[in-house]
Amino acid sequence: MNICQSQAWGADFRADVMTYPKYNDDVKHSDLAGGDMRHLGNCQVCNREGHPWSVIVKLEGEPYDRESYQMKMKEEGDSTLELPPVEYYMGCFCHPRTKLFHNLYHFGHNIYHKCKELLEEYDDNDEKKIDKVATDPSLFKEMSSKLKKYMKEAEEDYLTADGERGNSKWTREYN
Ligand SMILES: [Zn+2]
Repeated sequence: MNICQSQAWGADFRADVMTYPKYNDDVKHSDLAGGDMRHLGNCQVCNREGHPWSVIVKLEGEPYDRESYQMKMKEEGDSTLELPPVEYYMGCFCHPRTKLFHNLYHFGHNIYHKCKELLEEYDDNDEKKIDKVATDPSLFKEMSSKLKKYMKEAEEDYLTADGERGNSKWTREYN
């Protein structure tokens, strides 16, 4: 997971990508308030000059803390408020990289929710339901093939041949 993290990410993005469990990169400009002229500048993740944005990503879902699995809220005066989804305009390098990081970072959360869904399919009185979910071969297969795919992508795209961290995807495509 650390392989695909980048020093170039701003502090806000770093916190947000770790907080929201859903990565929606299917956002259309017209879905957003403010119209077409809302953002014309560089990628908002890395803020590098000459890195125009090409994809809008909405980080959404119930914000949570990975250590405690508790929902994250915003304190404002005496009240606690729900954190609204956030949007980032991303360039063509930050988009696949942040998506992969997000997939890996929230993997445990995904398994947790998959198990919860499966548990709900069983009868409440079924004492063996936890064992059944824990040993479900299709769940194991699905999750391990996903994880393998992400790890492969991370290694191939963001780890250089000598094992150093780097962006070989960049090198491969643009040098
Ligand atoms: Zn960027």
